[in-house]
Amino acid sequence: MSSTPRQFYWRSLHIPFIAPWTGERARHCTVVLRRGRGGEGIGYADESGVADRRHGVLWVRQPAVRGVGEPLLAGVHALRQRQAMSHMLCQVCGTSALGKADERHLFLMRDVTGKPIGEGERTATPPVCQPCAVESVLACPHLRKGHTAALVRHVRPWGVAGIVYDPRTLTPLPNDVTNGLVEVEYTNPVIRWTLAARDVVTLHDCTTVDLEQLVATGRDGRPDNSATSHTSRQAPHAPVHGSPLL
Ligand SMILES: [Zn+2]
Repeated sequence: MSSTPRQFYWRSLHIPFIAPWTGERARHCTVVLRRGRGGEGIGYADESGVADRRHGVLWVRQPAVRGVGEPLLAGVHALRQRQAMSHMLCQVCGTSALGKADERHLFLMRDVTGKPIGEGERTATPPVCQPCAVESVLACPHLRKGHTAALVRHVRPWGVAGIVYDPRTLTPLPNDVTNGLVEVEYTNPVIRWTLAARDVVTLHDCTTVDLEQLVATGRDGRPDNSATSHTSRQAPHAPVHGSPLL
């Protein structure tokens, strides 16, 4: 994961790595009852265990053809979000943050209260590298209103955010979550009835940082000062409308 993926721009700003494009709309697939080693849950009729599941959890199917069509800046591509979270890639430019001297990752969240990112805070938003964090703050009016950032030493898998299905009807259960995606921990039996669309992690050993100060002290950041995250707070490129599966 050491190479930087192709970059796309709009008005000289990055189109985020995790943004979906109109050519990448999630496929509607019929969900069926599946009996596995751990009991019953949802599955696909034509399921491929390697492609469709991660940590035993069923994932939404979504084409990965970045650059095809128009970018949907308010959305999140489920599988690139997962890729970025799994490999600690910058959510904006896709650059890897691994293998550098400072292995902490920069997480950036929208926040107007001044509350720092806390120990064990949960997030579905991947890290961001320092240059992209600065670009995001300059470009995003929501972040300009208020943000908080932290360098995070340990990022641990927690669960997924997704659509929870009714075991009796195999239809999505209603919920009142803003983006339609319910966060479910890996240890929760409900995970077997969840169609995952985001990888969710917890953040540990967090050191609050001032982005302007980071720039001033010369941390060059490309891959190494990466990181971004958000929990219940909004990330730089968090979806604000549209289908939760985009
Ligand atoms: Zn970046």
